[in-house]
Amino acid sequence: MKVIVHYDEIGLKGKNRGKFEDRLVSNIKKVVKCQVRKEYGYIVVDTEDDVSKLSKIPGIAFYAKALESSLELDDIKVKVLELLKNEEFESFRIRTVRHNKQYSLTSPELDKVLGSEVVTKLNKKVSLKEFDRQVYVGVCNKNCYLYLEKVKGVGGLPVGTAGKVVSLLSGGLDSPVASYLMMKRGCEVVFVHFVNYSQNKGSVLGKIEKLVEKLKEFQGYGKLYVVPFDDIQKELILKVKADYRMVMYRRFMMRIAEEIMKKEKALGLVTGDSLAQVASQTLENLDCVYSVVSSNVYSPLIGMNKQEVVSLAKQIGTYDISIIPYGDCCSFFIAKHPVTKGKKEDCEKFDLDVDGLVKGVLEKMNTFINKF
Ligand code: ATP
Ligand code: MG
Repeated sequence: MKVIVHYDEIGLKGKNRGKFEDRLVSNIKKVVKCQVRKEYGYIVVDTEDDVSKLSKIPGIAFYAKALESSLELDDIKVKVLELLKNEEFESFRIRTVRHNKQYSLTSPELDKVLGSEVVTKLNKKVSLKEFDRQVYVGVCNKNCYLYLEKVKGVGGLPVGTAGKVVSLLSGGLDSPVASYLMMKRGCEVVFVHFVNYSQNKGSVLGKIEKLVEKLKEFQGYGKLYVVPFDDIQKELILKVKADYRMVMYRRFMMRIAEEIMKKEKALGLVTGDSLAQVASQTLENLDCVYSVVSSNVYSPLIGMNKQEVVSLAKQIGTYDISIIPYGDCCSFFIAKHPVTKGKKEDCEKFDLDVDGLVKGVLEKMNTFINKF
């Protein structure tokens, strides 16, 4: 089966376009068992695999199952009849797009020739405004592609073209969506999860693995660092007053994530923060948290409200996993009313053996690649 893939923003790229296309081709091959060929205007996928996987690959505007024909008019006519032979319809229209501007017929001319073929051979009627079927005809350099239905893709840019980031993935609703949005902008995303083993005994990990597995559909692979957070939390619970613990936990998470970022040669950290959504996400507290690292922190949900995040989570399939109850280590032994206007000076007073604690935890860390 031939499937044509039309890319999204790559079309806007100038000199670098080839590189973006090549990356999209290799991303497609990671997810769908197929042969792939570039034809001007399209990527042509030849496969017997489940093509619905294409709807998850960033960089694709739409895809369509298509019939391929040569550029010979007689051949195109045969294919248009073949395309419609099992369809039930009365009215139709033809929509030609000429990617190959040298082609001997213009788009309206081809529309007319193919239209009259369908009218005479299948006894159907052309209707430009209200039609039962629309036949798309894409004329490329070597071949022509005919199809009936476009399936919408994720859009954006191919994963990897923007570089790599490290995402702090909790089991909640927000961070999976934040990770997805970065993938959609072309980032390869590596995940880090902090777990308090004594509190959770593995139940959280099952959930995190499910989330990574879901997110893997968008980039073709998943790499997860699992960081045991018990030692740091024990130390902080002893030394930090309850209302500051959440902010202090998050400061340590950032520092550790930054070390993983360096190891991964990535450029930037990602969180699911949304401004003022919860106590830990006020401007003051985010300042306390983000300022411990010198790297850029990207929070693509920062201006979204909860409902927008929820609808994205449903759309990408993480919602049902995220709502499974779990105990995030961020909520371990914290005050009922955590500080909302944290002060950096106060946080610094609680920062005792930062380097030692970070180093100790990194040594115990586990990494899983595509284990899911
Ligand atoms: P989420 O829905 O993503 O859990 P949240 O609204 O619950 O976010 P917080 O618990 O304050 O908010 O977490 C804010 C961000 O900190 C998360 O989006 C995530 O990026 C990071 N984070 C929190 N807990 C963890 C964890 N255990 N492991 C990795 N990252 C975490
Ligand atoms: Mg959370």
